[in-house]
Amino acid sequence: MALYVHKYGGTSVGSTERIKHVADNIINVREKGHDVVVVVSAMRGETNRLVALAREIQEPPNPRELDVLLSTGEQVTIALLCMALEQKGYAACSYTGAQVRILTDDAFTKARILDIDTDRIKDTLSAGKVIVVAGFQGITENGDITTLGRGGSDTTAVALAAALKADECLIYTDVDGVYTTDPRIEPRARRLNRITFEEMLEMASLGSKVLQIRSVEFAGKYNVSLRVLSSFTEGEGTLISYEEAGMEKALISGIAFNRDEAKLTVLGVPDRPGIAHKILGPIADANIEVDMIVQNIAPDAKTDFTFTVHRNDYKKAMDILQRTCTEMGAREISGDDKIVKISLVGVGMRSHAGIASKMFESLAGEGINIRMISTSEIKISVVVDERYLELAVRTLHEVFKLDQDVQSKESN
Ligand code: ASP
Ligand code: MG
Repeated sequence: MALYVHKYGGTSVGSTERIKHVADNIINVREKGHDVVVVVSAMRGETNRLVALAREIQEPPNPRELDVLLSTGEQVTIALLCMALEQKGYAACSYTGAQVRILTDDAFTKARILDIDTDRIKDTLSAGKVIVVAGFQGITENGDITTLGRGGSDTTAVALAAALKADECLIYTDVDGVYTTDPRIEPRARRLNRITFEEMLEMASLGSKVLQIRSVEFAGKYNVSLRVLSSFTEGEGTLISYEEAGMEKALISGIAFNRDEAKLTVLGVPDRPGIAHKILGPIADANIEVDMIVQNIAPDAKTDFTFTVHRNDYKKAMDILQRTCTEMGAREISGDDKIVKISLVGVGMRSHAGIASKMFESLAGEGINIRMISTSEIKISVVVDERYLELAVRTLHEVFKLDQDVQSKESN
């Protein structure tokens, strides 16, 4: 007998029909003799509706009160799902975050889980009931209601799975798994059977639509096997876990991309200690996140310095640069907010040379100019003009044969 944590997202519980369907899915697992702890989101659109209500009254809404408001969405679905289970003859019991005692810090609207008291859950499980816990919410030491940030039900589920040492945490959603790339860009994108935590984090730009990134970090830290699958269609979904020895590995698992990039360049700054900090310090102070950073070698005591930021922060970053870099005596500042970042991701590339050159060669073959490059152990990223996004993704998908699974690639 195994213990599973199931999490159902907003679309999966988007109507009473869907909720009854979820009940059937849970009953299937119970019938096989397994224990199930369920975490649910609010019904589809509900959290947005509540945020909008709050903003009609107060802008920005008081964070403590906003959390009291937002936590009601999940309270609706836990009760309805328990009723659906009972109606079908199965004993179930719902708990809010406070009732289970999902203890968090007091960072309202983005609280972090500190501890989970599993006693009550274990008692209810041994009484033979299905447990349904409200996702996305917790309670502080002082008894204030908190929420965990948008998409936070995933993190509730993983945290419960870790605390209960569940055999697997299944995240039911409206897509049937994690894909090699976005199928809207490359229709031949393929669902992956497995992916590692590290790869999933690097695929954030694709994966974050499927899973809250914090939940993946959490799962990695506590080694919780996570499976993403659809509540609408049958299938195994994608298993996110650690790399297993002897596991058949693809060199590349997927292609991630990020459309929201902008780059800024400072030309001709004096090449001396402290320059990087002088340029990036004020950017960090303004809470602007910097992604890639490139500094050129300086043949003549002057250097060029380029970095990328989120497109929304482009203007703000440019204004800051204008101020700091004129003071520093830089020659010129330039920028471009029509760029995208494309990344090849795969733990398999760790042990294989030549992936980068194959990537650059195939982009060159399409006449795509690479503007920046950065690499890590399991990722190679390039920045290109935004108009090349589709072409670049499709080209790389083809060249690295991502539409085929490992076995057929190996025999090539
Ligand atoms: N209902 C919350 C949201 O929409 C939490 C979740 O669904 O994971 O962000
Ligand atoms: Mg979600």
